[in-house]
Amino acid sequence: MTNVYNNILDLIGNTPMVRLNEVTKEIPATVYAKLESYNPGHSTKDRIAIHIINAAEKKGLLTPGSTVVETTSGNTGFSVAMVCIIKGYKCILAVSDKTKQEKIAYLKALGATVYVCPANVPADDPRSYYEVARRIAEETPNSIYINQYFNELNIDAHYQTTGPEIWEQTEGKITHLIACTGTGGTLSGSAKFLKEKNPNIKIIGVDAAGSILKSFHETGKINKEDIHPYQIEGIGKNLIPSALLFDKVDEFVRVNDEMAAYRTREIALKEAIMGGYTTGAAIQGLLQYGAANSFKEDDVVVAIFPDHGSRYITKVYSDEWMNEQGFVNNGVHNYDSLYKT
Ligand code: PMP
Repeated sequence: MTNVYNNILDLIGNTPMVRLNEVTKEIPATVYAKLESYNPGHSTKDRIAIHIINAAEKKGLLTPGSTVVETTSGNTGFSVAMVCIIKGYKCILAVSDKTKQEKIAYLKALGATVYVCPANVPADDPRSYYEVARRIAEETPNSIYINQYFNELNIDAHYQTTGPEIWEQTEGKITHLIACTGTGGTLSGSAKFLKEKNPNIKIIGVDAAGSILKSFHETGKINKEDIHPYQIEGIGKNLIPSALLFDKVDEFVRVNDEMAAYRTREIALKEAIMGGYTTGAAIQGLLQYGAANSFKEDDVVVAIFPDHGSRYITKVYSDEWMNEQGFVNNGVHNYDSLYKT
């Protein structure tokens, strides 16, 4: 039988790439989006969930009925919960209170226990989702903590899968890889593999305005003044994750909430690809990079589209939400112009 699988986990990885024909027209290069929403858990995080849990099993750290704990903005939680169901583990997740209700409902639908923690407290505050998850993992016997921000297997998952897929899909022609960085695992693991194949491939990270990653890359210092609350979920940080291999990144670009939201909507309307908020962030980052660096016609750019837009229906795809942020028709960008009449 072909295209028939034993369980849902066998469908992780091998995601398709699609050419972008409209939104990146101003760049002379060919641009492909790698659609990580085609993973069964609808995001790139399926790759790290299965990789880290398989590794823990090999080490004998997990037995039937064990508990898997994680901090998550939603996507990793969904992926971990999915893997836990098939493998027979309990899943406990600590999420930030920036996470939309529908994302939390998704996690609960897959049987996870969810703790909601304040987003705007320092990472070492006992109320932060890092500290809450760490404490739960310490106090729960027979448990593992995925710890995606500081787990080298996060990088390795993408080194083993995402990087090789991109290399094969572009037949080694890729010249630029661009991805949003949260933990940094996607970009770092893919970059590590691709740079081994061709060190000239440019690796571009996309950071959020309000996060410290870009300035840390440039100065080696944490600039506390960079830190302020922002809306884009899943990218940027107020800490330095060890899953981000800064030496593999050639350049960071920083995108703001408004432009990332605008691009997300534009990608849906012009390419018919309904991606999450960081899909727009990635393309906004690419356009900003393209404005400052010239692309050639035979350049081949791959942009990672990390997840699906269905999780953002009350956020970036909601006109009310956009209005509340002051993003719609504010004189800078006119949304109406995106809708064909
Ligand atoms: N986009 C979204 C929606 C995410 O949830 C994440 C993961 N936090 C990223 C991008 C960034 O991926 P990574 O953690 O591998 O850097």
